[in-house]
Parts: sequence; C-alpha cells; structure tokens
Amino acid sequence: MVSLFHLMLTWVPIIILAPSYNDENMMLPFISQLPAQQQTMWLAALRQAMPEEQIVLANSLTRAEKKQCQLAIVANPELASLAAFEQLTWLHSVWAGVEHLMTSLKGSPIAVVRLVDPVLSQTMAQAALAWSLYLHRDMPRYAKQQRNKHWQQWPIVPANERRIGILGLGELGQASATLLQQQGFSVMGWSRSEKKLTNIASFFGDKGLTELLQQSDIVLCLLPLTPATTGLLNKQRLALLPTGAAIINFARGAIVDTQALLDALDNNQLSHAVLDVFEQEPLSQNSGLWLHPDITILPHISAPTNLTSASKIVAKNIRQFRLTGKIPPAVNKEIGY
Ligand code: NAP
Repeated sequence: MVSLFHLMLTWVPIIILAPSYNDENMMLPFISQLPAQQQTMWLAALRQAMPEEQIVLANSLTRAEKKQCQLAIVANPELASLAAFEQLTWLHSVWAGVEHLMTSLKGSPIAVVRLVDPVLSQTMAQAALAWSLYLHRDMPRYAKQQRNKHWQQWPIVPANERRIGILGLGELGQASATLLQQQGFSVMGWSRSEKKLTNIASFFGDKGLTELLQQSDIVLCLLPLTPATTGLLNKQRLALLPTGAAIINFARGAIVDTQALLDALDNNQLSHAVLDVFEQEPLSQNSGLWLHPDITILPHISAPTNLTSASKIVAKNIRQFRLTGKIPPAVNKEIGY
C-alpha cells in the first residue's frame, strides 16, 4: 500500500518544480478603463472561454496580488495602472490595434500580444465593402442632390474600372482586399514587404506608395499608427491621387493630415472622405469635420471586437502559454506594430 509519506515524496518535488507560467492559483487580471458594464461583460465572456483561470477585474486586486501577476488581459488600459503589476511578462490585448501601448511600453520588457481574429477581419472586410460601395455608387452625391430637390442621373462606373488602393495588407487589409476583389473591383495594396496575392497588385516602399496613390479612385487606409505612418497622407501624397478620388480611413486618425484633407476636399481635388477614426475620440463638438458636406463621420464602428470570438482566441493563446511557457507572437515594439 502506498503510504502518505510516499505520496508526499512523489508530489513535493513536482509542486516545487512546477513552472511559474502554469500556476493555477495565480490571478489573471483584466485591466481596462471601459465603463463598468462593459468590463462585466468582458469578464463573463473571458471566464466562459477559460473557466480554468481565475480572471478578475484589476481593481479588485490588492497591491500585493497585483505584484504577483505575470500575465494580464487588457482592453485599452490606463497606462499608469500597469505600473502596479511589477512582475508582468506579457499582456494580451483584446483589441487588434495596440498603438497606445506601443508608446508607453516601448522600452519595457513586457511583451504585447494583440488580437488577431478572423471574425474581426471579416467585420472589417464588410465595412470596407459597404463604404466602398457607398462611394462607388455615388451615394454622397445623390444625398446632396436630394437635399437640393435636384433630379440628375450620373453614369455608372463598372466595378472593374473602379480602382481601390488599400494602405496596409495585414490581417484586416488582406481580408478587405479579398472581399473587394471578389466583388469585381480592381484592387491594389501597399505594405512594407511585397505580397503575392491572387489578382491583387502589391506595392511597397516610397515608390510603390506614389504609384498606388496615382492610380487609386478610392484609398482605404488600414495601416497601424507608427512613427512611419503618422501624417503619411499629407498634402503632397493627397495631391498624387486622381482628381475626384475619395478616402476611407478605418485605421487611426493621425495617419491623415486633417487640414490637408480639408483643403483637398474644398478645392475639389478629392470628392469625399469617410472617416471612422480621429486623433481625438469622441470627435470634439467644435470640430469642423462634423458638418463638412463632403465628409461622412462614423463613431469608430468599422470593426468592433466580438467578445465571444475574441475571448476564445485569448483563451487559446493563454492555454498554450500555460502548457509550454511560450508567449504567443508579440508586436514588434521597434517598428510599432
Ligand atoms: P497588421 O496585421 O499588423 O497589418 C498592418 C499592415 O500595415 C501590414 O501589411 C504592414 O506591412 C503594413 N504597414 C505597417 N507599417 C507600414 C509602413 N510604414 N509602410 C507600409 N506598410 C506598412 O494590422 P491589422 O490587424 O490589419 O490592423 C491594422 C490597423 O487597423 C490596426 O493597427 C488598427 O489601428 C486599425 N483597426 C481599426 C479598427 C476600427 O474599428 N476602426 C478595428 C481594428 C483595427 P507588412 O505586411 O509588410 O508588415
């Protein structure tokens, strides 16, 4: 018969040697500055996706408990609040865009893992299609005509003659490019590295950007905000677009120079802009963008994170980490995405 003593001999070393990434007693904080009701919804979705974890709201932890956490799940956390988590080795964001974390954690050893979710990519691709069709089928022009009780028909441009240039061919850019191409549009994309995609022309580098802009009737921005992309669509680059071209910005406000955009719309070099993102959100009540006749304002809704699918992906990544100790692929803090 196995004695208690023998059992202890077998278990004690295992307990002592158990790797710290696999400590099931460790709290897993959800750090966020979202309204309380949304935090509760996230907590429920995350707990359902990984019942084996002790997921708690960050503000329910004591100072000492915060100090012990190695890993956290975050949704746009207040950056100062991260300082209390002295032992953090990595963060899993439930957002795809982690720009604000990049600035503050640049020199820190904490790895930042962002959300990569096919459901999110599809949501963005649908938004890309919806607003490209809005521009393609002249809806802003007909809305203006209606306000002026003006009856005038304009020729329809076939989809294959409508050239859509996508800035950024990552998770969201490639899903959008594919859907737009399947709908018959002539699609091009620009990225840092060259891409080999079926029926989607790939451009890269400064020269590639110039070439793409010169032939885009609609520019769809799906780039991350980094030092290299801040102010990218400035006066000179907007001037490269064909007269009457339109812009959709679904990425981050600071990628487009707002004054240069307003000037290009006011002198009819550009016909319309669909803006979902702004340097300051919510957009200030005083902003001149609200009432501009050639701007469509959206309140950052092109691709919201889906709680259920995102929680499952976060759960899968964390489970993998608990098993192997390997942190999932993290954002490159040097280049900012
Ligand atoms: P991603 O997978 O990291 O893709 C980024 C793409 O941009 C890649 O193709 C990358 O090129 C390219 N890129 C980055 N820096 C560049 C540069 N300097 N020059 C040329 N190309 C550059 O990102 P994602 O998941 O597609 O997301 C893109 C952005 O969408 C996020 O960062 C976020 O800001 C925004 N977003 C918005 C919403 C919304 O609701 N409005 C929702 C989610 C995300 P390589 O392929 O060569 O690396």
